[in-house]
Amino acid sequence: MQRKWTSEIGEGDVGRDVLLYGWVHEIRDLGGLVFIILRDREGFIQVTLPKKKVSVETFELAKKLKRESVIKVVGTVKKEPKAPQGYEVIPKDIEVLNEAQVPLPLEVTEKVPAELDTRLDHRFLDLRKPRIQAIFRIRHQMLQSVRSFLCEHGFIEVNTPKIVSTATEGGTELFPISYFEKEAFLNQSPQLYKQILMAAGFERVFEIGPIFRAEEHNTTRHLNEAISIDIEMSFTDHEGVMKILEELVVKVYEDVAENCEKFLDWLNLKLEIPSLPFERVTYDEALEISKRKGEEIPWGEDLSTPALKALAEEFGDVHYFIVDWPTECKPFYAMPYEDRAEICKSFDLMKGALELASGTQRIHKYDMLVESIKSKGLNPESFEFYLEAFRYGMPPHAGWGLGAERLLMSMLGLKNIREATLFPRDRNRLLP
Ligand code: ATP
Ligand code: MN
Repeated sequence: MQRKWTSEIGEGDVGRDVLLYGWVHEIRDLGGLVFIILRDREGFIQVTLPKKKVSVETFELAKKLKRESVIKVVGTVKKEPKAPQGYEVIPKDIEVLNEAQVPLPLEVTEKVPAELDTRLDHRFLDLRKPRIQAIFRIRHQMLQSVRSFLCEHGFIEVNTPKIVSTATEGGTELFPISYFEKEAFLNQSPQLYKQILMAAGFERVFEIGPIFRAEEHNTTRHLNEAISIDIEMSFTDHEGVMKILEELVVKVYEDVAENCEKFLDWLNLKLEIPSLPFERVTYDEALEISKRKGEEIPWGEDLSTPALKALAEEFGDVHYFIVDWPTECKPFYAMPYEDRAEICKSFDLMKGALELASGTQRIHKYDMLVESIKSKGLNPESFEFYLEAFRYGMPPHAGWGLGAERLLMSMLGLKNIREATLFPRDRNRLLP
């Protein structure tokens, strides 16, 4: 007999035998009648044992079942309007494949609320909850959509090194690692490598991979290990890659709305598809809005959390771009405007007060890049492996990095970024 998922049981199965595997979600023992709620990754089914209709052994076994044990059930499907799915299974045989110990360190039924820390300590149990499972099933769809969208737009998927030498975008936020006789670090972004690939003639690349940031502070939107969706594209500018980004975000929402109805249901969510194009607000305008709302920021400084809150208040919890940032705010590779060099061809994609992505048109001229590196107080010599790529035919190019967990948390309204990753890494958490 072929195994069925609980969600596959339907009208055609009535009166037939099915084979199910799963976990004992709940047991209700009414004396002469026992109900088991069997859970698998796709949902629940009620397994009903009227004493007179099942074998003595099966009945006795059911009474002794421990919650969260793994079981195999073979039984006959019956229509039952009162059962959660409209069907129930009368078992011919139940086999315990692995018994769970008692008591459970975490409730899967969510009858008792648990702190996030406790949940993360016993994450495998936490992830059994349909509501939590749903987040990762939607994450899967999100990454699938990103891949297919970018492939359809001519991007080539690449993998760049995560173990790197000293020079990246500047010294801060780096994790040093032990690498034989050399000094090495975990990469904070694929930036330099994806740019080198433009010199290699790939023209359009994307990478979905880990970035490592030694963020000192515990916040609800920073992880020390995150997944970044990165693109780099030749023969275009910041506007070109902003268009790709906003279309990508909409495509992800559309695909999730279309293919993850059940999981959105488990989360009790209805997705609103954002409309195109996203609003563009300049950095200068952002300062004005923020000033009007009582938060004054000196020109040239990064937008503070209260400033971003002010913008979110102005625009609502929607997607918008903040464009034309001061050159001093952005990394050395950002291309300044020809006619106003104090600002650069840069953007952040926001949803409400949360930054989802950052991007720029890049400097592709060698001399200009060397000057820019120096002006940030960095040493061009330590960037030689990167700079060489700019001496022998580097096309104009632009790109961005989009945080996968940020995109997911903002789409699902999760309050803490840790909810959007299976096993979060933060200052206090290295296990599990
Ligand atoms: P923030 O200002 O929010 O700390 P950032 O400007 O330092 O972010 P970027 O270097 O622009 O981050 O990285 C590109 C994107 O990667 C960010 O927009 C964000 O979505 C994601 N990202 C960066 N750092 C983290 C982190 N520590 N945890 C989770 N996602 C991150
Ligand atoms: Mn940024």
